[in-house]
Amino acid sequence: MSRKMLVIGEARDGALRNVTFEAIAAATKVSDGGEIVGVLCGSENLEEMGQEMVYYGADRVVTVQNNKLTTYTSDGFGQAVMAVIEEEKPEGIIMGHTAIGKDLTPKLASKLETGLISDAVDIEETGENMVFTRPIYSGKAFEKKIITDGLMFATIRPNNIKALNRDDSRSGSVSAKEVDIADLRTIIQDIIRKTSDGVDLSEANIIVAGGRGVKSAEGFKPLEELADVLGAALGASRGACDAEYCDYSLQIGQTGKVVTPDLYIACGISGAIQHLAGMSNSKVIVAINKDPEANIFNVADYGIVGDLFDVVPKLTEQIKEI
Ligand code: FAD
Repeated sequence: MSRKMLVIGEARDGALRNVTFEAIAAATKVSDGGEIVGVLCGSENLEEMGQEMVYYGADRVVTVQNNKLTTYTSDGFGQAVMAVIEEEKPEGIIMGHTAIGKDLTPKLASKLETGLISDAVDIEETGENMVFTRPIYSGKAFEKKIITDGLMFATIRPNNIKALNRDDSRSGSVSAKEVDIADLRTIIQDIIRKTSDGVDLSEANIIVAGGRGVKSAEGFKPLEELADVLGAALGASRGACDAEYCDYSLQIGQTGKVVTPDLYIACGISGAIQHLAGMSNSKVIVAINKDPEANIFNVADYGIVGDLFDVVPKLTEQIKEI
């Protein structure tokens, strides 16, 4: 059964986040040949980004440009996306399970009085149904869900559903929609970023993460060098954050970010269950720890028993030579 799908795009620093393209791929699957309509909210650059969504599989894109949408607020984006939903009347909606997706989609679902499957890592078609797979119990198990009624509304975890290939011969309209946005209840005055402009942790293909074993803020230096040569993002355990070796924005785990990179290199991390909840679904896990009994080795594909201050610089040197 073909369905018209809406994909809510997400941009950061003027460029679309990769999860937007993954959401288009997910929507294409769910649509079963139905139309894919992208929606983009913001205050600039929307036409260009809308075109990019078309290249990645959207049939057309509706943009809502307004100065009240310069930075994300659930209030402003909620009003803008609702106006598009009311006009387009889609049969399904897909968005990335990002900080914004997690905030916006439940609000939309409640306004639309429909269900929402959050954090899907896979979507497959079996018979009549679209089956969404999502992790439960901090990633220790997976459940499969179907939607029997209402909108096919889901968020997808970044880095799990492969984006379609970019095809710049694709054509589709990018049209602007005027939405009269009521005064916002929250106005963002300024955003103070704590992390550097490095690779985005939740979308990174490679992550080098440090734990309490790095012993100090200085101890992150060798990890930063390894991350640099690999083009990786830097992450951390809560142990390292609590010890003030790094900022909490790097924290991975149950109460931090959930990541699924192709390669996760854990350095001086013991592998507490709360840390594993955020990274155990990574495709390849390398653990460096001087304790051969460390729990991290139970989830690692490759383990190096050794002092990270010896091992990490050697790895960096070797990789530089490749
Ligand atoms: P440790 O457990 O102290 O491990 C340090 C490791 O470094 C050890 O295995 C040691 O052998 C190794 N090491 C030491 N020196 C070296 C060296 N020179 N070379 C190599 N290895 C070395 N934790 C998270 O990470 N993320 C979360 O989101 C999270 N949420 C939590 C939520 C709750 C409700 C609770 C109760 C806890 C949570 N925790 C979380 C904390 C978690 O339980 C652990 O305390 C934490 O993950 C430990 O961090 P760590 O592995 O860096 O430190």
